[in-house]
Amino acid sequence: PLVLGIETSCDETGIGIVRGTTLLADAIASSVDEHARFGGVVPEVASRAHLHAMVPTIRRALDTAGVAAADVDAVAVTAGPGLAGALLVGVAAAKAYALALDKPLYGVNHLSSHVAVDLLEHGPLEEPCVALLVSGGHSSVLLVPRIGGEELTELGATVDDAAGEAYDKVARLLGLPFPGGPPIDRIAREGDRDAIAFPRGMTGAHDPAFAFSFSGLKTAVARWVEARQRAGEAVPVADVAASFQEAVVDVLTAKAVRAAREAGVGHMIIGGGVAANTRLRALAQERCDAAGIRLRVPRPGLCTDNGAMVAALGAQLVAHGATPSSLELPADSALPVTDVLV
Ligand code: ATP
Ligand code: MG
Ligand code: FE
Repeated sequence: PLVLGIETSCDETGIGIVRGTTLLADAIASSVDEHARFGGVVPEVASRAHLHAMVPTIRRALDTAGVAAADVDAVAVTAGPGLAGALLVGVAAAKAYALALDKPLYGVNHLSSHVAVDLLEHGPLEEPCVALLVSGGHSSVLLVPRIGGEELTELGATVDDAAGEAYDKVARLLGLPFPGGPPIDRIAREGDRDAIAFPRGMTGAHDPAFAFSFSGLKTAVARWVEARQRAGEAVPVADVAASFQEAVVDVLTAKAVRAAREAGVGHMIIGGGVAANTRLRALAQERCDAAGIRLRVPRPGLCTDNGAMVAALGAQLVAHGATPSSLELPADSALPVTDVLV
């Protein structure tokens, strides 16, 4: 099926067009520059930017794909989780297109889309996998029986900050720009990841096997930096970034590999904005190789928010014969990770 996907959960207006698992267009308009000076995404600004960018971005995607709106078989849209006002713009646009084109509407989960997007890069995977979902607002280990299917189980999640949130907060205290993931990734390459032994959260003998915690790590980094500054010494930013990053990716990869082993599955997928991280990708590959697990990670451009991921999940739901959403589809800013289709 030819599916149009609309993503507006945060600050990216993403429009994707896929045919089955083939990506035809992935158009993005981002309002990130408008938020940068605030050090985080301003919801009202994001909503206005989506409204402004929606129709031109859809036109651009149709142009790139070389298809007409009338060729579209289904419209998929992010129904949550995300910023309420931002989601509403995408959901309203999707309803308008579905109604005007008389085509089914699929309201999908943004988080499942972060996993399903891998189909566009590595093709179908007809067996269960463990998915490590690491983004700006979420960090979970999922057991996925079928990618783009309606069923999945959450084995564990963060009890406080998400991995991406930790990157953003640590970047801020190191004086690096927002969003913090890319600059930390870059600067960490020049640092020593063993320079500072930052704590590995949730790795105690009595901690849940697949839960994460990154808030204590962020505090530990802040204390360490403050102590340096109080002593009048320069902060070795590259070493701090590399050591912080190692603490994050060490725990993420160790727990995801353990989940795959315990579940007896042979494939792992990493999705979400933090999956773009070069050190996470390298360490996950190393540990999956050692454990005999096949690792699939989409290219960095498909890890951060985009419309292709929504179209990819929509196309799977169509292919599996899922029941379309109602035109009364709500936007749910707190949609649970297990609700793949609304
Ligand atoms: P969610 O998907 O939970 O709703 P979101 O959509 O805002 O949150 P994503 O776009 O999936 O988040 O990811 C953005 C996050 O990814 C930010 O926190 C950003 O710092 C982080 N990120 C992006 N690139 C990298 C990178 N190379 N290394 C580490 N983190 C990164
Ligand atoms: Mg973004
Ligand atoms: Fe996201």
